[in-house]
Amino acid sequence: MKERLEELKQEALGKIESSQSLKELNDVRVAYLGKKGPITEVLRGMGKLAPEERPVIGALANEVRAAIQEQIEAKQKILEEKVIAEKLQKESIDITLPGRPIVQGNHHPLTKIIEEAENLFIGLGYTIAEGPEVETDYYNFEALNLPKDHPARDMQDSFYISEELLLRTHTSPMQARTMEKHEGKGPVKIIVPGKVYRRDDDDATHSHQFMQIEGLVVDEGIRMSDLKGTLALFAKKMFGEDRDIRYRPSFFPFTEPSVEIDISCKICHGDGCSVCKGTGWIEILGGGMVHPNVLRMSGFDPEKYTGFAFGIGVERIAMLRYGIDDIRHFYTNDVRFLKQFSPVESN
Ligand SMILES: [Zn+2]
Repeated sequence: MKERLEELKQEALGKIESSQSLKELNDVRVAYLGKKGPITEVLRGMGKLAPEERPVIGALANEVRAAIQEQIEAKQKILEEKVIAEKLQKESIDITLPGRPIVQGNHHPLTKIIEEAENLFIGLGYTIAEGPEVETDYYNFEALNLPKDHPARDMQDSFYISEELLLRTHTSPMQARTMEKHEGKGPVKIIVPGKVYRRDDDDATHSHQFMQIEGLVVDEGIRMSDLKGTLALFAKKMFGEDRDIRYRPSFFPFTEPSVEIDISCKICHGDGCSVCKGTGWIEILGGGMVHPNVLRMSGFDPEKYTGFAFGIGVERIAMLRYGIDDIRHFYTNDVRFLKQFSPVESN
């Protein structure tokens, strides 16, 4: 029986040595160490041996089993390394090939305009305020000197959620909301970028949803010239230092006096062309001195405080800046359109 075990050991080691693959090696393992293998069989037959021989044979059998096991493990390592080496050889990487470029996204043109405006106004000491898009009638109209029967409400028809709740028609409700928080004490200096809604039919220049940037400054001694200087700076930063600006008297219920601001036409420089409809000027935004009623309703004393407010149409700025002829391009998200705008430079 001793000889049989020695024989089995030599046989197994030989087969392990000649194994060429992990599968072959596993077959050897099953054949020699498995439950039906010859070593198990030898151990089963120990009952026939003399009692004094049993421990000797038992020890030898375990020794043989351990030797085979050890050899299998060693061989397995070698074969595994071989598999990896072969794989590496086959899948060698050509480091001279250029890498795959990472596609970098762009900012939406409206986002670009808003971020540029934010950077400019933050530099002038403004803070950014954001307000709810679902607004109350009070903040959207009444607190801005537009009582319920005011005819100017017709120009800003909206989507009503209930009698008293609507989608805001401008970012101006944040004027009253912010002033209330200040409890009658200046200075207030904010811009409010955000989405607004009007019940308009969509066409090349109208959309039922668009974006505005509201501006509000309230403090002691704020004058019309402060408004003019601020908006002139904005227009020149947005459209170039060489553009002229003019102010036209206008009407808004929440400002008095009110102005609309035009910039000189980029195409004809004031001579008149189809872009500026022959006038040489293009309207870009509206503003004015905050109406005393608006100040009073939001808890500010109009005898002590004055202020100015303005509203910038973000789409309008973007259309003029980039020569976009249809407002709907902003919302359809055609990648061919969006790809034309470079990312906003961070500063
Ligand atoms: Zn023109």
